Amino acid sequence: MSKQSQLDELNKKMSACSQCALRAGCQRVVPGAGSADADIMFIGEAPGKKEDETGHPFVGAAGKFLNEMLALINLRREDVYIANVVKCRPPENRDPLPEEVAACWPWLLEQIKIIRPKLIVTLGRHSMERFLPGQKISKLHGTLVIKTLEGIGQQHFYALYHPAAALYNGSMREVLIKDFQKIPKIIAKIGQP
Ligand code: URA
Repeated sequence: MSKQSQLDELNKKMSACSQCALRAGCQRVVPGAGSADADIMFIGEAPGKKEDETGHPFVGAAGKFLNEMLALINLRREDVYIANVVKCRPPENRDPLPEEVAACWPWLLEQIKIIRPKLIVTLGRHSMERFLPGQKISKLHGTLVIKTLEGIGQQHFYALYHPAAALYNGSMREVLIKDFQKIPKIIAKIGQP
């Protein structure tokens, strides 16, 4: 079965999930979007209002900023895969609770197992914390980390500030853009023996 067909099957199952309380309070599950064959997987926090309305990840203001940064490195959304740690919108966009992150984790892990990206780019603290717990994003952002991921093996990670947090914060925005522009070199480095 192609990676795309595997993702389609997974998304169908995901859409019927009610493993945590979030599903009852949102309009729809937002599984993720992009290329099943992507080298890079971006993982944000959780859907917001626009994402919940449309079913697509990162379509609000933060998504527009993400698109702009992708364009800076000559990529389109269709070239990468974009998902979230939690697939259902938390009420009032509050932070996802640990039990919600835990309930949604098997879906994210399955997505990663199918796509097998060269690089996982975490967007924001919550996403970083799921993969690289106990780190400070102000220290870790913009550095390549290799870590073993259950059922996957050695995986490359790159932590970035969240586009929504950086959107209206001049200095964080500059740092995020600089970190983002290092991605092509990082991908080239991962390909080397
Ligand atoms: N939109 C998403 O899909 N995820 C986020 O983390 C923020 C906005």
